[in-house]
Amino acid sequence: MTEPLLSIRDLVTEFDTPDGVVSAVNGVSYDVFPGETVGVVGESGSGKSVTVMTVLGLISQPPGRIAGGEILLEGRDLLRSSAKEMRKVRGDEIAMIFQDPMTSLNPVLTIGDQLSEALLVHNGMSDSEARKRVIELLELVGVPNAEQRYDQYPHEYSGGMRQRAMIAMAIANQPKVLIADEPTTALDVTIQAQVLEVLESAKRETDAGTILITHDLGLIAEMADRVVVMYGGKVVEMGTVEEIFHAPRHPYTLGLLSSLPRLDVDLERLEPIVGSPPSLINLPPGCAFHPRCSLARGRERCRREVPDLVGVGDGHVSACHYTDEMAEEIRRVERETGAAFGAGGVA
Ligand code: SF4
Repeated sequence: MTEPLLSIRDLVTEFDTPDGVVSAVNGVSYDVFPGETVGVVGESGSGKSVTVMTVLGLISQPPGRIAGGEILLEGRDLLRSSAKEMRKVRGDEIAMIFQDPMTSLNPVLTIGDQLSEALLVHNGMSDSEARKRVIELLELVGVPNAEQRYDQYPHEYSGGMRQRAMIAMAIANQPKVLIADEPTTALDVTIQAQVLEVLESAKRETDAGTILITHDLGLIAEMADRVVVMYGGKVVEMGTVEEIFHAPRHPYTLGLLSSLPRLDVDLERLEPIVGSPPSLINLPPGCAFHPRCSLARGRERCRREVPDLVGVGDGHVSACHYTDEMAEEIRRVERETGAAFGAGGVA
């Protein structure tokens, strides 16, 4: 079997704050294999972004603290790497595409100079080789008139164009892992679709494993091969995109799907998840989802016992004491909302 490129194991990341310790990532494990896209979903504060910031070595310590776990990049534990080694890892092996390109593009350097700098530092190319490669990269991500655009500054690019330039920068050194954190949130729908296409072709070009972080399930359905669902700093369900969308085995996943606008459901029949995400300083006891869970009502076990992630299918795992009731729960939601999850996949 193929070995994972990146393997996150039992990761714990905390932050000291005046109000107490924030348990932002609480024992998270997942793998990323070559060429696959792993979608990570969850509400704000679920730990999805802090997990990848930890992978990238971008947690300020203090106030942050990595209290446990391993991050293995092709078997090498990044948590044992020096700051200098991590800078190299970030340039060469793991690249990040941020939500807002202006945070990672330097406004006083031309786009061409910024991209070629990445190549010169990490690849030892000559100036003319770097210029040629940058123009190829800009063409690859669909920047028109790449030769002329090379000499323009970020403010001369539109929002969508800047996002493309940032994708070009991220893939310049053929990284093993690409991380995209809400890559299209700031863009309008048409540009979003174009940027996603670019992201797909960038992935094909590099055969990188991709982590796509988003709260947008539509994006996950379109792009991801596997899905990690996070809640309260933990993974609560993980499976293929088909399993997660058609046969979810965790009430939180079903809640996310039920609140998603879809063609087969009237907007007023959507069933949003009640309540708000938990405080990471003071997580509810037992299952952190219990105050919001439709299956938890009156169940002492949900309030007392933290559910482990258990296998519910080949590679499909869920952290719920009552996964065997999910088929009926899906039917209830389908009856009440008119949605069809194609739940035949639930045993
Ligand atoms: Fe809901 Fe209980 Fe399952 Fe948690 S363990 S998701 S509260 S049914």
